Amino acid sequence: MRLIVQKYGGTSVGSPERIRNVARKILQTQEEGCRVVAVVSAMAGVTDNLIKLARDTSQRPEEREMDVLLATGEQAAVALTAMAINALGGKAISLSGAEAGILTDRAHTRAKIANITPRRIQALLAEEYIVVVAGFQGQNPEGETTTLGRGGSDLTAIALAGALNAEACQIFTDVDGVFTCDPRVVTAAQKIDEVSYDELLEMAGAGSKVMQSRAVEFAKKFGVEFEVRSSFKADPGTLAKEETANMEDVVIRGISIERNQAKVTVDDVRDEPGIAGRIFSTIAGGNIGVDMIVQSVSEHGTTDVSFTIHENDLPGATELLTPLIEEVRASGLITKGGVAKLSVVGIGMRSHSGVAARLFDCLGKGGINIQLISTSEIKIAVVIDGQDADRAAQLTHKEFGLGRFVPPAAG
Ligand code: ASP
Ligand code: MG
Repeated sequence: MRLIVQKYGGTSVGSPERIRNVARKILQTQEEGCRVVAVVSAMAGVTDNLIKLARDTSQRPEEREMDVLLATGEQAAVALTAMAINALGGKAISLSGAEAGILTDRAHTRAKIANITPRRIQALLAEEYIVVVAGFQGQNPEGETTTLGRGGSDLTAIALAGALNAEACQIFTDVDGVFTCDPRVVTAAQKIDEVSYDELLEMAGAGSKVMQSRAVEFAKKFGVEFEVRSSFKADPGTLAKEETANMEDVVIRGISIERNQAKVTVDDVRDEPGIAGRIFSTIAGGNIGVDMIVQSVSEHGTTDVSFTIHENDLPGATELLTPLIEEVRASGLITKGGVAKLSVVGIGMRSHSGVAARLFDCLGKGGINIQLISTSEIKIAVVIDGQDADRAAQLTHKEFGLGRFVPPAAG
């Protein structure tokens, strides 16, 4: 019998009615001749509420206690899902992450899965149970509860599909799949049928947050194919898999926009070994994530180092870097909030030339100024003014022929 792992996100189990809907979908999958392991997230909003509760209770909640607290969200959801299945005449049982055999390292609130021993799941499946597993959690070698970082139920599902050697892994969510661009911004955006792990990673990292990045990395490492699809519709979604030869035929798979970015430039800094190390270890010391980094060509012994961070981190970064400016004898710190990052992603870039030129030309014709550029083998990203972001996405989407044809409005 086919074994299928299904994951249902917070919105999909957001109310008793939706939980019943999920229960029906699971039972239907079983009726089609599958054994089902369902991974469930906390009901929509629950994790956020628990975090808020913790912050309202303590200024510095311990990470260990955060894990004990946050894990309850998924535990409630799996119990309710199992009840709903049973109420419909099915045979289901819920398991916590620990009970499911998910062993992690000791890094509370951002634990990595070390090992999965799915013996109990297998025994229950053999007894014809539908096994409902709490996402986002596991236990460390001491048997303490750990969680896998925000969005971690995706990782639970992918890892279980790998450990159980499942025939399919379906990630049910509140969107129809992965899109060529955010459909709220580009009306012509289309659902992508197939995407390679690398493309999805570049797109996820670049703002199309359909999947937890760590889950996609895990899927890539262990070759776990998965499908992202809607829990409210019967349509197929987007299949993420190892790249195949014909995937390169498409120049650009998708475009993503990341807003609320800030650009920081350490101006005219001495061009000497160790300076970049000083700047970025200072930033890292403040736990600030840095995205694009660009160093300009050295001129008269000085250079400019620019990078982007989330806008919310700008005050922190400014505070950290200001004393450093004098120390490294830079001429100043230039900061600019309200910028956005636009990324075009596609493995087809490797075999099609001129993609960068086409992108820059298209933005240029649209009067959109490019402030920073960075590239990878399969991505070109530009920093632009936040106010230009939507228009840049629309122009680029059209330039690369990504969308479906939308007839012009009548009149
Ligand atoms: N409930 C957790 C979160 O909100 C994990 C998940 O939904 O995947 O991040
Ligand atoms: Mg300069």
